[in-house]
Amino acid sequence: MSIIDSESRRDSGVYPKRGLALVRGEGALVWDETGRRYIDCVTGIGAANLGHGHPRVVEAIQKQAQTLMVVPGIFSNDRRAELLERLISAAPPGIERAFLSNSGTEAVEGALKFARLHTGRPGFIAAMCGFHGRTFGALSATWSKTYRKPFEPLVPGFSHVPFNNLEALDRAVNSETAAVILEVVQGEGGIRLGSREFLRGAQELCRERGALLIVDEVQTGLGRTGRLFACEHHDLHPDLLCLAKSLGGGIPMGAVLMGERLGELPRKVHGSTLGGNPLACAAALATLDVIRDEGLVERAASLGERALQQLRGIESDRIREVRGLGLFLGVELKEKASPFVRRLQENGVLVLQAGPTVIRLLPPLVIPEGDLQQVLDALREVLTG
Ligand code: PLP
Repeated sequence: MSIIDSESRRDSGVYPKRGLALVRGEGALVWDETGRRYIDCVTGIGAANLGHGHPRVVEAIQKQAQTLMVVPGIFSNDRRAELLERLISAAPPGIERAFLSNSGTEAVEGALKFARLHTGRPGFIAAMCGFHGRTFGALSATWSKTYRKPFEPLVPGFSHVPFNNLEALDRAVNSETAAVILEVVQGEGGIRLGSREFLRGAQELCRERGALLIVDEVQTGLGRTGRLFACEHHDLHPDLLCLAKSLGGGIPMGAVLMGERLGELPRKVHGSTLGGNPLACAAALATLDVIRDEGLVERAASLGERALQQLRGIESDRIREVRGLGLFLGVELKEKASPFVRRLQENGVLVLQAGPTVIRLLPPLVIPEGDLQQVLDALREVLTG
């Protein structure tokens, strides 16, 4: 039986499959079981910012696996202490502590809980078209009906305002609001860039009215947008900043970075068995080292700018708009994106969708320029052919 058939027989069924079994990866490339090569602009949905099998990450994981893999939070650990220090010194000003988790939705869940705990208020305001994860709290902040509807009733207290509409947010934030939760660039929602006015306005409203600002950088985090944190584009100083995906260099890991207003949390209010395990911490430390030593933030900014220009230069009646920040790129079509995603896959390029009409490109930040050019050429071909 083929890998695809075997997996489909036993898998839960929740993923719409792409008819491809990937068995190996190196840098920006992945291979299927027949040995066919693909340029990977899916990168584990933004988890493999360093590409696949980066030697320094592999070495760090191997070394730590032989040393010590699990240490629960009730004990301290050298790798964890080092990672916390590194993350906090790299984070936007005002971040003082962090809680380590295993995924993005858990990071968001933690941030929501900490916000209620700190403010004693019940309410949350999120943005329409935002995505924050699939556990009950994070799902309640997520906009899409497709994800929400089957699981209602969700957590009470959540409301949504149009993204980039500061007046609507102004009307929504009140003395019952624990936090406003926003992405700097909406990823799943279609690579929609938050305006500076909206994001900074949101921060001001929160400060004014005693609410907290949660910035969800699960997808934008760690270099993707041409800054280590997308918050830096707008000098945002969130009270809670959620990370995951690329943080662990491919090993599951998430984090809630906590601003000075939060202080130290009371004992036992939250926890995670595997969150912050030394294996994930070692992988994250190696990831931060590679990002710094290989200048990947600057690389994402310059390659992203060039890619954006080229994408904007594609003359095709099918394109409605091209959007992006760094190597976080989206091409919105006037028609469904899925046939083009399929044709790109047939042509050896893996990309994602972001909603029904947006082609989303998440190239690894290490992608060779020649491979990125091949991706852009393939995209031009399918959109103009
Ligand atoms: N927040 C954002 C902005 C995301 O893009 C995602 C996943 O795509 C999540 C949260 C959830 O992360 P995870 O799938 O690791 O739970």
